Amino acid sequence: MKPKVYITRKIPEPFINRLSLICDVRMWEKEDTPVPYEILKNEIEDIDGLLCMLTDNIDDSLIRKAKRLKIIANMAVGYNNIDINSATNHGIMVTNTPDVLTKTTADLTFGLLIATARRLIEASDYLKNGDWKSWSLMQLTGQDVYGSTLGIIGLGRIGEALAKRAKGFDMEIYYFNRRRKYEKEEELGVQYAPLEELLKISDFVCIMTPYTPETKNLIDYEQLSLMKKNAILINTARGGIVNETALYHVLKNGGIAGAGLDVFEEEPVSLDNPLLTLPNVVALPHIGSASTATRMKMADLAVTNLIAGVQNEKPKNLVNCIR
Ligand code: NAP
Repeated sequence: MKPKVYITRKIPEPFINRLSLICDVRMWEKEDTPVPYEILKNEIEDIDGLLCMLTDNIDDSLIRKAKRLKIIANMAVGYNNIDINSATNHGIMVTNTPDVLTKTTADLTFGLLIATARRLIEASDYLKNGDWKSWSLMQLTGQDVYGSTLGIIGLGRIGEALAKRAKGFDMEIYYFNRRRKYEKEEELGVQYAPLEELLKISDFVCIMTPYTPETKNLIDYEQLSLMKKNAILINTARGGIVNETALYHVLKNGGIAGAGLDVFEEEPVSLDNPLLTLPNVVALPHIGSASTATRMKMADLAVTNLIAGVQNEKPKNLVNCIR
């Protein structure tokens, strides 16, 4: 009998065909909506493998329903949507899709930094709204990126790729990481700074940590108050790392100059979110890894991990330790 797998979002046909050679595949077919929790709760009971997305909340009560689940293959590098402790306690492997999205996400992060600093979205809207009546000296002036100081919080795969991009812009780069990475300092030309120091000296602060209990609200009123008035905060990691209420008030009161956000506490972000009313906020719908090629690579890797798991092999990107 073939192992049974469930996929929570439509993925391209070649991947389904590949899976179907080995597994009985069921899938949530509605491309633009996540599978409802109650449906997933039913589906999870008799499957051997689950391929899910960051929009699926794989919590303890869902995991408890699974009777024979061997693997949860998440199609994202972050896996804060999965209760890892519960999966581990139930002997279920969890995998993610690192590396294949690193450069694409670093590109987007740097692009968002430039878009926020140079007010690209505002300028485009200005033109399209018919407001461009003449050229003038100080019209839509922003901040220079080249030669400025960048602070990276979380010097992991994407943080490192971001540092390489920033070098091309002659930026002075500081980083804060849970563990100081001496070996990377010379290689990347980056300097370590404690978090408070980094916040005080940076013109741009980019958050690149995972979302964990330790990084929840890592950037709150206190941290934002340390930043320069002309500083810009970029978050392409996860929404909950920044306290959005604090960010709104600090931006509104001129405490910092702007923010570029690809991620939000609640996604899709509510149109009532006050951050969206601020002209100095550039907001994107979680598109960090969204290039066609990268999404294909992520799907391929997630499927490869899933197949290994249902065949009782150790998947390449295992993130938990199963006895
Ligand atoms: P990674 O290689 O694991 O890097 C994360 C870095 O953060 C590591 O260097 C880690 O330090 C550091 N870190 C962890 N906890 C910390 C803490 N409490 N304080 C300071 N530093 C801490 O992960 P990655 O591949 O670069 O991805 C980073 C995150 O980006 C993902 O978890 C995901 O949430 C987000 N992401 C978003 C998108 C998007 O579409 N917007 C796309 C891809 C990824 P250690 O060296 O000590 O482990």
